[in-house]
Amino acid sequence: MNLCGYYPESINEGEGLRAALFISGCRHYCKGCFSPKTWNFDYGEPLTLEREAEIIHDIKNNPLLSGLSILGGDPFFSAAEVSGLIDRLVAETGPLSIWIYSGYTYEELIERPDSPEYELLRRCEVLVDGRFVEELRDPSLLYRGSSNQRLIDIQQSLRQGQAVLWESIFSF
Ligand code: SF4
Repeated sequence: MNLCGYYPESINEGEGLRAALFISGCRHYCKGCFSPKTWNFDYGEPLTLEREAEIIHDIKNNPLLSGLSILGGDPFFSAAEVSGLIDRLVAETGPLSIWIYSGYTYEELIERPDSPEYELLRRCEVLVDGRFVEELRDPSLLYRGSSNQRLIDIQQSLRQGQAVLWESIFSF
């Protein structure tokens, strides 16, 4: 699995100050994609155990962070590996707010409860879902690019059996 980006601190990829990890590889091929070079699974740097340890160390030792956001590419094309990474991270940090971005919709990701995609989804708090639709692009939207995309409260959605929108603790 390759990383196409890593910010130890960011305010743009979810609520609060968050570490942001970008996983290479995407097969959604959205028209107007913000970064087509990230479609390539070999783009960027390999996530070696040494690099992973550095990132876990950064997150564990930054008390200002609200959590971690995982973007791409689309991390759900590397679902099993990303779940493993989350498990090793949380073993070090304790419970952590994890936001995850995907071109898949929530409904697509829950189709098969025995799938690696479902396993990854259930480890996270908020899903920013759906393909980027150029015709629906709206720069004023919070944490997403086009108006078809949603911010989903994953744990509430799994409990209620339907997609529940995430609500900010701040009012926008
Ligand atoms: S899901 Fe994201 S990374 Fe993949 S093609 Fe669409 S906009 Fe680009």
